[in-house]
Amino acid sequence: MAYISLQKVSKYYQMGETKIKANDSISFDIDKGEFVVILGPSGAGKSTVLNILGGMDYPSEGRIMVDGTNIAEFTPKQLTHYRRLDVGFVFQFYNLVPNLTARENVELAAQISNRALDAAEVLDAVGLTDRMMNFPAQLSGGEQQRVAIARALAKRPKLLLCDEPTGALDYETGKQVLKLLQDTCRETGTTVVVITHNQAIAPMANRVIEINNAQVRSIYENDYPMPVS
Ligand code: ADP
Ligand code: ADP
Repeated sequence: MAYISLQKVSKYYQMGETKIKANDSISFDIDKGEFVVILGPSGAGKSTVLNILGGMDYPSEGRIMVDGTNIAEFTPKQLTHYRRLDVGFVFQFYNLVPNLTARENVELAAQISNRALDAAEVLDAVGLTDRMMNFPAQLSGGEQQRVAIARALAKRPKLLLCDEPTGALDYETGKQVLKLLQDTCRETGTTVVVITHNQAIAPMANRVIEINNAQVRSIYENDYPMPVS
């Protein structure tokens, strides 16, 4: 049984008189420990999939099986619990708390999810030993994203969801962040899902799910994902 299985998931948004179909009967499976890229142009429906997968929103139709349980049937309270404990989020623009240091940003996340954890150790693992006491504004874009990844990992999530994690970074810095995500996936067994419009990221994934116009266009596996170097 797949770790995650989306089964005919649809999501509609009502905009005045018009109904927008953001996801139209989307189905795919993800195995534990996979590095997955969901690829598609702007407006394809990627964020909608990620929000549903992360327990931030309910689908209009369909099942989202996670570890054998349909989270679409969770109560809001159960869904909050799932989101807090099982899922880590990484965003395009980092979303760090500006008046907390790198270390405090990570500590806060660990507290919220009741994980006893050494923030310094996690920041060390993402290569930020020397930057722990800095505030976000004192860090480069790549460093801020690494803090954001450390913060997400502080929960020890089963699932790490990343929304255009390299979208605000230059090519070299983006590569470092992708390498960190790939290494994290391999070394900790965390399942990593990246949504992006950037086709260059697809060869690095185990599994690529192409979405266009609210539907799955293709799904393929890379037997030999390209190592980021
Ligand atoms: P992507 O992440 O691939 O850019 P989205 O999932 O954000 O795509 O959006 C898919 C479609 O759903 C778009 O047409 C978008 O405008 C629409 N949409 C997304 N969120 C909402 C919302 N909260 N209300 C209304 N329409 C939305
Ligand atoms: P990038 O090319 O990634 O945008 P920057 O030019 O912003 O990088 O920063 C380069 C280095 O300078 C980084 O290591 C960053 O931490 C450091 N730095 C940038 N701004 C400050 C600041 N206000 N205080 C301390 N260090 C800073």
